Amino acid sequence: MLIGGQMIPGDAATAPLVSVNPADGRVNHEVAAAGTDAIDRAVRDAAQAATQRSWREMLPPQRARILSRIADLMERDGENLAKLQMIENGKVWSECTAQVKSAAATFRYYAGVCETTGSELTPSRGAYLSMTVYEPYGVVGAITPWNSPLTMEAQKVAPALAGGNAIVLKPSEITPSTGLALGQIALEAGLPPGLLNVVPGTGQQAGAALVEHPLVRMVSFTGGTESGRRIAQVAARKLMSVGLELGGKSPHIVFDDADLDEAVEAVAGGIFEGSGQSCVAGSRMFVQRTVYDAVMRKLVDVACSLRVDMPDVPGAQMGPMATFAHRDRVEAMVESARAEGAQIIAGGSRPQGERLAGGAFYQPTVIAGIDNSARIAQQEIFGPVLCMLPFDSEEDLVAQANGTAYGLAAGIWTADYRRGWRVARALEAGTVWINTYKQLSISTPFGGFKESGLGREKGITGMRLYQQPKSIYLGMPRG
Ligand code: NAD
Repeated sequence: MLIGGQMIPGDAATAPLVSVNPADGRVNHEVAAAGTDAIDRAVRDAAQAATQRSWREMLPPQRARILSRIADLMERDGENLAKLQMIENGKVWSECTAQVKSAAATFRYYAGVCETTGSELTPSRGAYLSMTVYEPYGVVGAITPWNSPLTMEAQKVAPALAGGNAIVLKPSEITPSTGLALGQIALEAGLPPGLLNVVPGTGQQAGAALVEHPLVRMVSFTGGTESGRRIAQVAARKLMSVGLELGGKSPHIVFDDADLDEAVEAVAGGIFEGSGQSCVAGSRMFVQRTVYDAVMRKLVDVACSLRVDMPDVPGAQMGPMATFAHRDRVEAMVESARAEGAQIIAGGSRPQGERLAGGAFYQPTVIAGIDNSARIAQQEIFGPVLCMLPFDSEEDLVAQANGTAYGLAAGIWTADYRRGWRVARALEAGTVWINTYKQLSISTPFGGFKESGLGREKGITGMRLYQQPKSIYLGMPRG
């Protein structure tokens, strides 16, 4: 683990994490896991680094320069970072390399935000000058999931550093290596030691100890809704700020005036890319009843033609699930839907044949013959499983689309922009795409309504998440 600028071995009492390649079941490597003592040491080091004058008084252009250098070095090491992600979570090579570029771009973007975002002079109501400046919390705890580790880590580390904090990053136990590599890159880029400590470990042990630590004044978490709820309970007790990016069950809507071929391609990409292991996966497809059968035929064709293969094979469109346990969980959910009467109209099994039999693969799956209250339509599956649901009127659609505990994202396909706008405003979701899907920009705030989260990452808001406003009044002569 990386603490105080040094790579150090784990606690003897804490079993190491064993990283397994989900494409073939082979062990990649072991990584030290942090126990309570290591977390305490990392947080104390970070707290000390956060108060160093050299960091507190570093001017925004100097801080921006370090962030830009991190971006450059990530690009230099792009192949290694992409490979680390691919062997740990099984994402296809094209997606891994695109995510490295996106993570580097995040550092470059926050270098710009850091250097250009000012404080505010507020309208005066008396004999004073009033202003609001933004100050760091001190130590931020960052906890990330396994599905897109590097992009999530960049999305937290870059704005938290831009905002003047020190960070203790706890990557997912399934994907510990990209975070460690990022920590070493940051040191090479000139980030003073201790400002980014990386402590892999389990959620129950390392994650919980980080959230509980009294010197951690803000936690930024991306992961499942239940874990988020547990973290929020601790935060309530500590009266600590949190940013929570949680799960989703996003509706992807097709009206009968849409370009159906384009819509079906996008719906398939929206759920099957990354084997459905994406928080914004469009996992519930609502189709206007007038075109339901036609859309179903097209969708089944697209789902069955997707190339499921080893992640490093050129042209592979879907790799394995990130772990064998997760594949088994997805498989069990599909089987229980089948037992409850759902129709599996595509996939619904592991790929046939010997070639992929050693990996955690699962076929693109489409489920029909259910309504929105079915368990499979309500629970986050986080796998390549799409539920197809018909709708009749716009009113019926909005009620069904909003009929979930989640509110992360939604997609709408229609030729009528007035309708697109109306439905977008009626949907309970932090991001709505109209005639496109899964476009994500670092300059645009991202986060969830309802049980999909609290707070917004990305954009200027994404840096403010890691800062607290301080208002200062300067007395002025009267009259
Ligand atoms: P998870 O909640 O099991 O784990 C996420 C991280 O939290 C891991 O690092 C884990 O070790 C840690 N953790 C777990 N319990 C903890 C606790 N009590 N205290 C502190 N840390 C704890 O989620 P996962 O299985 O790794 O990821 C999949 C989930 O993440 C899905 O629900 C998905 O929708 C969500 N996700 C959301 C977004 C988003 O931006 N909204 C993005 C990606 C993934």
